[in-house]
Amino acid sequence: MRVRKILGRFEEYGWETPSWEIASRVGLRPEEIVRLDTNASPFRPAHALRALRRALEGIEVNQYPDTSYLAFREALSDYTGKGLERFVVTNGADEGLDIASKVLLDAGDEVIVPTPTYSMYRVVSTIMGARVVAVPRRADFSLDVDAMLGAVTKRTRAVFLCNPNNPTGTYTNLDEVRRLAKESGVAVVVDEAYFEFCGGSSIDLTDRLDNVIISRTLSKAFSMAGVRVGYLVAKAETIKTLNLVRPPNSLSVLSLYLAQYAFEHLDEMRRNVRTTVRERERLVRSLSDLRGVRPYPSQANFVLFRVEEGDAERLHSSLMARGLVLRNLAKAKGLEGCLRTTVGTREVNDRLIREIDDCLSQLRQR
Ligand code: PMP
Repeated sequence: MRVRKILGRFEEYGWETPSWEIASRVGLRPEEIVRLDTNASPFRPAHALRALRRALEGIEVNQYPDTSYLAFREALSDYTGKGLERFVVTNGADEGLDIASKVLLDAGDEVIVPTPTYSMYRVVSTIMGARVVAVPRRADFSLDVDAMLGAVTKRTRAVFLCNPNNPTGTYTNLDEVRRLAKESGVAVVVDEAYFEFCGGSSIDLTDRLDNVIISRTLSKAFSMAGVRVGYLVAKAETIKTLNLVRPPNSLSVLSLYLAQYAFEHLDEMRRNVRTTVRERERLVRSLSDLRGVRPYPSQANFVLFRVEEGDAERLHSSLMARGLVLRNLAKAKGLEGCLRTTVGTREVNDRLIREIDDCLSQLRQR
């Protein structure tokens, strides 16, 4: 079978190792594994699940969903204050990124990505045959807008900006995003997967600018990573273009039910976000107090921290042996010696701090 040439030099997304595999590697039971590597929520959307259980009998799983997703767009409209014609509903934010790349990129085009960042931008762009131009963030991980504008050429078609940025937790303010969109003139896809944890958003830029596309998800603040729902927000004409390549039925009726319920009952999400933000600040303080690690400030539901020379890999393995799985970024460019942890419940965060402290003192004694 012949496949596309591009796949010959394609670096695929590094899938997360399943819990059962980690468990068997370290000799624990799968339920003893605590995932702090995916930035998912530690909370279950209990009210939405209860409502689904009650509604289940009446949900027509034998029929396709309403492919216009009208009811859900109405809920999105209430949430964001934008009109119904301003959304594309997607199967998670990753599908939104994929849709954006399909409308924006031809083979040979260039895409600007400030790094370090979420690796999916590189994946969706290179699949389209585009070339990714990485523009490093500054030492404090803030966005270097001048360097990004300097990287724009006549082949540039898009910028992918993660805001707040995964994995650094850095927020780029609205003025900088506006400047980037206006002065570059190319499509700026702003990935706001974590925006609820900081409150700031560039969504209002889509009222005027047709080259700004906002991507969001229910996987983080709404505690629904397994439900697979996201959405794009843009100017109405841009939405029409995005709809040209949208798969007609990529959401299940069950996912739609849960997502819609969540938007009609925002109190549960808001409470969980408040708890996570409070825990994030506590976690950053506790990490700062530990000898041998240095956390970065975060506007999201995760914390990046640097580990004293040479110990990041060993700390990652020691924590994994105890069932705590963090994201190992020790070898990632610009993140040497860093690990990233999702903010967990109070109990999990306390345990994490204790175990990090314990592992590091053991490593020092070796
Ligand atoms: N964008 C960012 C920045 C992410 O970190 C993630 C998931 N880790 C996604 C998008 C994908 O989200 P979804 O689960 O909605 O596909």
